[in-house]
Amino acid sequence: MEKTLFEKIADKEIPAEIVYEDDQCVAFRDVNPQAPTHVLVIPREPIPSLESLAETNAPLLGHLWMVIRDVARQEGIAQGGYRVVVNCGQDGGQTVDHLHFHVLGGRPLQWPPG
Ligand code: AMP
Repeated sequence: MEKTLFEKIADKEIPAEIVYEDDQCVAFRDVNPQAPTHVLVIPREPIPSLESLAETNAPLLGHLWMVIRDVARQEGIAQGGYRVVVNCGQDGGQTVDHLHFHVLGGRPLQWPPG
């Protein structure tokens, strides 16, 4: 099967500014940042979306949240506060069919989102 865009980034076939990686996940800067800090955290496993998660993905998800916390600290936004967003499906605004967590910070963020 054709690799997703984010699999290609994880496999270093497409360049990206990677800020963290391990055997389960990769974090890299969004190419079109919506805040001074905008990092995407993805599992290496090409899970298409939140909707396609399985019970067996629970340990991976726990790990991803720990990585999100650590990336926020590493980026210097943990103290000021930040937002984690997962767009799911068409109405959710998902454009890349590979599960990803947006980590946004570095400025006060508005609520609600559009
Ligand atoms: P979503 O709309 O939630 O699916 O988010 C996809 C995100 O991927 C968007 O914020 C895009 O700016 C970002 N994106 C698309 N292509 C790249 C790329 N080559 N490198 C980094 N980020 C990307």
